[in-house]
Amino acid sequence: MSLSPDRRGLLIILSSPSGAGKSTLAKRLRAWDPSVIFSVSATTRPPRPGEVDGEDYHFMTDTAFKKAVANGEMLEHAHVFGNFYGSPKGPVRDAIISGKDVLFDIDWQGAQQMTNSELALNTLSIFLLPPSIAELKRRLESRGQDGPEVIARRMQKSWDEISHWGAYDFVLVNEDLDETEARLKSIITATRLRRTQQPGLLEHVRSLQAEFGEAEI
Ligand code: GDP
Ligand code: ADP
Repeated sequence: MSLSPDRRGLLIILSSPSGAGKSTLAKRLRAWDPSVIFSVSATTRPPRPGEVDGEDYHFMTDTAFKKAVANGEMLEHAHVFGNFYGSPKGPVRDAIISGKDVLFDIDWQGAQQMTNSELALNTLSIFLLPPSIAELKRRLESRGQDGPEVIARRMQKSWDEISHWGAYDFVLVNEDLDETEARLKSIITATRLRRTQQPGLLEHVRSLQAEFGEAEI
């Protein structure tokens, strides 16, 4: 896929209640198009088994997190499930300036902060709904990463997150994973083809105009 060098990257935001499938789909998107930069969030929550610092999250102490916020180093941040989470600004700025798209796995508060900011023109927000609440619980349990108390807390908070579905550009019910993945790719492909995402078009139309002026028709 070739992107015009003077294009500003898209900020692709994925939100959902915990367990609906954001991380799984984010991984698939990154495998589909390795040019997509994943925004590695900072968090004060402890790492889960298998999570790698700097890849899944930047794991931080409360003090370090608050300092980063005070220094204006976070594009957005929020308190979720008793911990702080935020998107570091630097890598996002570098990526969008170089025309790359950035993928965010963030909650509704982060999505709101980004879509209300000066970046709003370049955001694409997608909300994932679970097929049912029972299935959401089953997925959280089958992930096998959190204890029963953590799962209960996430289930209790799931409606808080779901209730913001109406603020997103697109909503997908993540029932069949392959189908959701295909739909997500279609949404991204279509958004990349928006006129405003293809600044190189102007040049192309000018060359067509010049050719039209000289052509024998
Ligand atoms: P999981 O995503 O539910 O498996 O659990 P996590 O602990 O990894 O994330 C909890 C919530 O925090 C999810 O809703 C994430 O989307 C959200 N989150 C992660 N990183 C960020 C961030 O940088 N900013 C904001 N606002 N939310 C985040
Ligand atoms: P989130 O990042 O939103 O918390 P995950 O991507 O970790 O959610 O998904 C939670 C669990 O559900 C994982 O074990 C994942 O493999 C599984 N899962 C995700 N999407 C589907 C789906 N469409 N059908 C069945 N299981 C799914």
